[in-house]
Amino acid sequence: MARKQTLGYVELEWTCPNCNSRNRGRDKTCANCGAPQPENVKFERAADEKLIATADAKGAALGPDIHCGFCGTRNPADAITCSQCGANLKEGKARAAGQEMAAAAKVTAVTCTNCGAENPSTRTMCEKCGSPLPTAAAPVSFAAPMGGSAAPAAPASSAKPAKKPNWLLIGGITFLLMICCVAGLWAFLAPSSSVQATVTDVYWQTSVPVLAQQEVRYNDKAGNPPGDAYDVSCHTETKSVCEQKTIDQGNGYAKVEEVCHDESTDYCSYTMLEWKTIQTYPLEGYDLFPQYASPTISNGQRLGSPSESFTVTFDSSKGTLTYNPGSADEFSQFAPGSEWTLKLNAFGGIVSVSQ
Ligand SMILES: [Zn+2]
Ligand SMILES: [Zn+2]
Ligand SMILES: [Zn+2]
Repeated sequence: MARKQTLGYVELEWTCPNCNSRNRGRDKTCANCGAPQPENVKFERAADEKLIATADAKGAALGPDIHCGFCGTRNPADAITCSQCGANLKEGKARAAGQEMAAAAKVTAVTCTNCGAENPSTRTMCEKCGSPLPTAAAPVSFAAPMGGSAAPAAPASSAKPAKKPNWLLIGGITFLLMICCVAGLWAFLAPSSSVQATVTDVYWQTSVPVLAQQEVRYNDKAGNPPGDAYDVSCHTETKSVCEQKTIDQGNGYAKVEEVCHDESTDYCSYTMLEWKTIQTYPLEGYDLFPQYASPTISNGQRLGSPSESFTVTFDSSKGTLTYNPGSADEFSQFAPGSEWTLKLNAFGGIVSVSQ
């Protein structure tokens, strides 16, 4: 069951469609040009919203504002007649309310249309000239000015611009790392020289594992135990998962709610029988015919997948070189005394062999 709790309210903002200034949610007319907020201009969340305790948010708890049916002016929910034209507000239209609101964009820079000064988007008035500020554009990464052009002394300002990561530096380092990776890979994979070589030695190694079932104990694993588990004991852990929602009240404020629900997870401890390697039987040889051990197994045991490795040793003008064929088929071609052309990488490792 979901549990809901009101944490308080935050004041919203709206942007004047007439002059593009941002206004406080409580303002029913634009502080810059005096135009009333039209019904279709939505409220938005402010970049620096502060939680107002429920007791201190009288207007916020009142309900959605009413737009006068005659002149369109926004009036508080408890007004009887329009503050602008005196018309009865029974004819008016309540603002939409109850929608969950998206978070404001992170604090960005807003350029004053009057004087050009950059202000953080938490401000609605220009720090420098006092003009109303427009809505922050979609967040763009801007390079911090390299000294000099910072805003003139404004010690009273409480807004401190967030420190921006230096994308140029990060990008440069990433680019250099990529270059190094590519160059390293190329040096490994690209043949840089070739050499004639003669097979001097061949060597193979095989290994056959014997498996037996053993008890493995699992403790407090989330989820259901497998069907063949035994000695099972389970318990349930419940934790509260909470989420904050900001709900438009239609009056310049939004209600901040915390909605919580319980999530339960089962944890089980159990024992399983699992096939484990108890012994391996290796064989080795210096010819082209790898063989596998065939150990006798007792009841409750079985053979696992065998593994093998092959090594070919060459003599060349660059000294002794070794190569590991990937399969027994490939290995069988390297008859001692046969001649091969080896392609080598920058480190002298063998990249490819051909006859
Ligand atoms: Zn305006
Ligand atoms: Zn009116
Ligand atoms: Zn300005």
